[in-house]
Amino acid sequence: MKKFLFADLDDTLFQTLEKCATRDALEPAAYYSNGSICSYTTAAQRAFFAFASEGMTVIPTTARSLDAFRRVELGFTSYVVLNFGGVILQPDGTIDRDWQGQMHALMTAALPGLQQLASRIDAWADKTGYGGRARLVEDAGTPFFIVIKDPDKVALNLERVEREAVLPWIADEGRDYCVHRNGNNLAILPRALDKAEAVRYVTERLRREHGDIVTFGMGDSRSDARFMADCDYAIIPRRTQLAKLTVEAL
Ligand SMILES: [Mg+2]
Repeated sequence: MKKFLFADLDDTLFQTLEKCATRDALEPAAYYSNGSICSYTTAAQRAFFAFASEGMTVIPTTARSLDAFRRVELGFTSYVVLNFGGVILQPDGTIDRDWQGQMHALMTAALPGLQQLASRIDAWADKTGYGGRARLVEDAGTPFFIVIKDPDKVALNLERVEREAVLPWIADEGRDYCVHRNGNNLAILPRALDKAEAVRYVTERLRREHGDIVTFGMGDSRSDARFMADCDYAIIPRRTQLAKLTVEAL
């Protein structure tokens, strides 16, 4: 029976230097657009990836855009889930047009809400003197979600943005949207945008291609939990947001 691992990338298979548990034997795994190193693998992460790639097909399941994914240097050979599930690449590297059509319709419907929230956040920032700004992330011609990063990289500042500018809007008029905050990353997504939906779609494809399969899900964040729960097995790296909320909490 064929085995597939749906794996989140950032903070799961590699991370930035500041987040590396050890400074020994690091190797570059992803780059910024200017060519400088963005993230590293530890020796343990490389051992895990080699082990997983031997027995399974690894399917990246990430919030990264097409462009940011191309700057990741691990070898992948199958489907790829990008933009929190907004874009799916087929094994030949082309965009899955059926999925893109479905997502484009859903995201077009969700766009006015995202725009309204982005101006809300920016107005709040002007009023309070906060230095961050809301950025609408678009890819392959479709708008997907809003992201705010703290300019001083103080993750706690984003907790305040979430509490004062985002949650009141969601409670009032944004019930079709949800928030993900992890480290220096605050993202607001339409509920229709979910890695779990894309993983379900790819899993159905894989079942048609290979018959019965076994699926594994791996990720570090709350936002990974839904797709991991739909897999036959879940793998959670230690010292991550998801580990703290689950196995480490128990
Ligand atoms: Mg992650």
